[in-house]
Amino acid sequence: MPTKFIRIADLCERLSKITEKNAKITLVSNFIKELEPDEIDVSVRLIIGKVFPDWSDYTLDLSWITVIKIIKKITKAKNQEILEAFSKTGDPGEMARILIEKKGIVKQATLLSDYSNELSVIDVYRALERIAKIKGEGSRERKIKILENLLRLAKPIEAKYIIKVILGEMRHGFNEGLMEEAIAKASRIPVNVIRRANMLLGDIGEVARIALINGYEYIKNVKMKLFHPIKPMLAQQAESVTEALKEHGGKSAFEFKLDGARVQVHKQGDKVMIFSRRLTNVTESLPDIVELIKRELKAEEAIVEGEVIAVGENNKPLPFQFLMRRFKRVKDINRIIREIPVELYLFDCLYLNGNLLIDLPYIDRWKNLTEIHGKIKLVPRLITSNPDEAQEFFKLARKQGHEGLMAKKLDSEYTPGTRGKKWLKIKETLSALDLVIIAADWGYGRRKDWLSDYYLAARDKETGEFYIVGKTFKGLTDEEFKEMTKRLLELKIGERGRTIFVKPEIVVEVVFDEIQKSPKYKSGFALRFARITKIRYDKSPDEADTIDRIKELYIKQFETKARK
Ligand code: AMP
Repeated sequence: MPTKFIRIADLCERLSKITEKNAKITLVSNFIKELEPDEIDVSVRLIIGKVFPDWSDYTLDLSWITVIKIIKKITKAKNQEILEAFSKTGDPGEMARILIEKKGIVKQATLLSDYSNELSVIDVYRALERIAKIKGEGSRERKIKILENLLRLAKPIEAKYIIKVILGEMRHGFNEGLMEEAIAKASRIPVNVIRRANMLLGDIGEVARIALINGYEYIKNVKMKLFHPIKPMLAQQAESVTEALKEHGGKSAFEFKLDGARVQVHKQGDKVMIFSRRLTNVTESLPDIVELIKRELKAEEAIVEGEVIAVGENNKPLPFQFLMRRFKRVKDINRIIREIPVELYLFDCLYLNGNLLIDLPYIDRWKNLTEIHGKIKLVPRLITSNPDEAQEFFKLARKQGHEGLMAKKLDSEYTPGTRGKKWLKIKETLSALDLVIIAADWGYGRRKDWLSDYYLAARDKETGEFYIVGKTFKGLTDEEFKEMTKRLLELKIGERGRTIFVKPEIVVEVVFDEIQKSPKYKSGFALRFARITKIRYDKSPDEADTIDRIKELYIKQFETKARK
């Protein structure tokens, strides 16, 4: 018997009412155990609201406004009713549930149903897949038609979750990390094996299917696939080169920390693909780098990692913002290549001619890299146990216009997707946080047409939910305000008065004077004099700083004061 979609809707509803992590995991684990083999991957993706892997080219591309229009059409609700339903919850999915429950769905005699009597999990997933595959002229209309037909068949609670999946706003506190645990529990396979498989395949649905159907031996040996990006290894922050050396047992490899965009380059023969740190395919934005790799990389098959930076006169690094223009306008790429020249600096090799290298020590991976890099630059590096030498190297990096240093532990393996102490970043400004904008207020006076006051939120490590830790209207240029307003409106999921609520998607780097305890915010903390220093287009919200990190900095600030 095919599983009905309503069971996923009910499950998500229950998840949103439970706060205890293990109870959530048990619930999902029991659910996925009962699924038919061909329902596992799609259900797992639907539950966490991630319909396609990050690297896939599919996008649903349906905004909040479009969804509201469809609901209005199929329920014939009046504007006032929509407003009322919406202001009760601030959630478009819940709004749809309320309206469909109240008004019912207007019947349409000519509706040709592609679906079974009651929507199954597969029906819903296939419809979303069809929406996502539509590209080109008239695509919006065709996407809308499919969604409209789907919603016409949905029960109120189903409509709620179809919309939540489409807008990527599940709000049930069950993220990919918890899903890995649920898969581990359901398949009785250790969670670290599941995590590793997910890092290599980058598709939680496929991981669940293999774990539950094929079992331990199979999932333990999954191979990474060329042209499917691996999640990047991340770094924690260190206060100084001395701290890094201490953490690494007295000796580290110090590399320049370049302020650009991280790239993972996959090559097989003449085929080259480049992925961003967020695992999106950015090959089209970097044709010059593709050529460079084809020409210079001395390997039949390889995955190498590096940083692309924009350069100005005399190869001086330009601020990150210049580089981002490269990734925004693919249309006129030839002109942009001329306007914004870039340089690639490699720093790691993850795969070479059939062999996955991630379990090799850093030092051996670097050796492999030196054997294949040809004329492609390697990131400047110094291996030392001498703190003075390391400090000089830090100064040199700063003098040449770079962010600082990365300290890498010589014997460390490459751990995809984890932010550990094997890699430590050392920057000039310590108290910078990466936070996510979850709401914004319309400005006043000169700024009245811009969303210019931003609610900044930090991540809860366990649940992936975001909690506000401050608000700021400082730091952006007029150009950036304009662009930010446009992006925020695309991400809008609700509004109340002068405030609009957005899907947590945009990450910004924020500096501040102090962290205070706050009874006002649920997070318990508030940043004093916060201001935005950078829009982090390259970072995804699940890389934002956590409430725990803020707590840590809060405590540290007293220690620093006590020392003074
Ligand atoms: P952050 O963005 O501050 O968390 O720092 C991590 C980022 O620094 C990585 O994702 C890379 O994009 C960038 N980076 C710059 N230079 C290096 C390097 N030598 N090794 C690793 N990452 C680097």
